Amino acid sequence: MRKNIVAGNWKMNNDLSESKKLVKGIKKAIKKKELKNTRVIVSPTYVSLNAVVKKAKKSAIEVAAQNMHQADSGAYTGEISADMLKSVGVKIVILGHSERREYFGETDALLAEKVDQALKNKLEIIFCFGEKLEDRKNDNHFKVVESQIKNALFHLEAKPWKNIVLAYEPVWAIGTGETASPEQAQEMHAFIRNLVTNKYDAKVADNVSILYGGSVKPANAKEIFSKQDVDGGLIGGAALKTEDFVALIDAI
Ligand code: 13P
Repeated sequence: MRKNIVAGNWKMNNDLSESKKLVKGIKKAIKKKELKNTRVIVSPTYVSLNAVVKKAKKSAIEVAAQNMHQADSGAYTGEISADMLKSVGVKIVILGHSERREYFGETDALLAEKVDQALKNKLEIIFCFGEKLEDRKNDNHFKVVESQIKNALFHLEAKPWKNIVLAYEPVWAIGTGETASPEQAQEMHAFIRNLVTNKYDAKVADNVSILYGGSVKPANAKEIFSKQDVDGGLIGGAALKTEDFVALIDAI
């Protein structure tokens, strides 16, 4: 059965000492909690990954990278490979975030390559997608989400899906303070699960965790997380403060 996940995407925030402090705070706060079926993931910048992996040892916290290059190695100045992530103890990578798509030109085709590279290296993937405001206004949101998922993931066989987590992040809700309503989130998550059922089968679809991302905070998390097909959240702003992040874990 699929897991609930509370994942903090720290984006380009927190230097090394701030990152260590934040993970230490979360570790202390969740030490005595019974997490049951819930995974806790944090995603610091590359420069803090190694230190955060070390600090997270002997705790339930897992660590994800925010991106990864699609090649094994070579002349790609400024880039980071799957091997490098593994060498510092990282087992999860976020791919397809809307900020990567928007500011760094990442396309579905490139993301399909990154997906293959991550899976080849036995990394788990948190795969992000979501429509822009104009897509929703034009009633194209289902079509956009369907094509993002199909183009980057549907070339896969069923088996690698055990290493895929989906994250629906409507672009209009990211960092804006505006969230999808719990009903909008549930409607889209059910649509996504249905896509996976139709392409693979009900077992694959039932086992994949589908996270919601976009202005999740302690005040709205409980209602969103309570929806049947919402298996947790990928959180930006509210993941930067220990007490808020821990409140989100409590909300699930
Ligand atoms: P916010 O929670 O700040 O809206 O960011 C969401 C997000 O982009 C997580 O990846």
